[in-house]
Amino acid sequence: MKPVVLVVEDETSLMTMLRYNLEKEGYRVTEAGDGEEAITVAAETPPDAVILDWMLPRMSGVEVCRQLRRRPETRNVPIIMLTARSEEADKVRGLNVGADDYMTKPFSMVELLARVRALLRRAKPSQAKGQLSFSDIVMDLDAHRVSRGGKYVHLGPTEFRLLQYLMERPGTVFSREELLNGVWGPDIYVEPRTVDVHIRRLRKALNETESMDVIRTVRAAGYALDATNDQAA
Ligand code: CA
Repeated sequence: MKPVVLVVEDETSLMTMLRYNLEKEGYRVTEAGDGEEAITVAAETPPDAVILDWMLPRMSGVEVCRQLRRRPETRNVPIIMLTARSEEADKVRGLNVGADDYMTKPFSMVELLARVRALLRRAKPSQAKGQLSFSDIVMDLDAHRVSRGGKYVHLGPTEFRLLQYLMERPGTVFSREELLNGVWGPDIYVEPRTVDVHIRRLRKALNETESMDVIRTVRAAGYALDATNDQAA
C-alpha cells in the first residue's frame, strides 16, 4: 500500500510539479484546490501526510489545519505548511494550529520530499498504539487500561477516549466544541453540556486514587489536562 499524500494548493503549476515528484517517490497523491475541498478529500481518503498551502481560496491553510486536527481520522496526520511569508510570527501561528513542519516558498523540492519522508517515518510509531503518560497517569492503549499512581482506574469508553484525547496534547485548552469533534466525531450531534458530564465522570474516576486534580477547567473556554489546580471547578 502506497502512502497517500494530500496536496492542498491553488497554484496549478505548483500542484502539477508536486504531484509529479511525489508520485515519482512512490506516493499516491490526492489533491484539493481550496480549503473546503481539502476537508472533503481528507474525509473521503484519509491521507498519511498533508502538504498544505497557507494562502488558499475559501478557507485559509490555518483553518484547514485546525479542522483536520479536530477530526479523529486526521487528528495525528503529519502536516507541512507551505507559505510565501517568512515572518517568524506566522511560523509560530502555523505550528500552533497543529502543523508539524513549515516551508517558505520558493522551496527546494528535494528538501520538501526529505521532510515528507521524515514526517511519515515519525508518524509510524504513533499509529501503532502503545502507552501515553502524563504526571502519574499511564494509559495502556493496547490493553485499554488506565492507572494512576500505580492503581487501576476504571473508565467508561467515552471517558477513556476523552482522556486519550487530552493526554495526546497535555496543556492544550480544548473548547467543548473541539472535544465533541475530536472525541465524538464531527458528524455526531451531541449537546455541548454532554462534555461537562463526561469530564465530571473522568475527573471523579481519576481523583478516587489521588487528590491532585489534573483536569483544568478554563472558564468560558473549555478543558485542559494540566498539572495545576488553578481555576479548577
Ligand atoms: Ca496559494
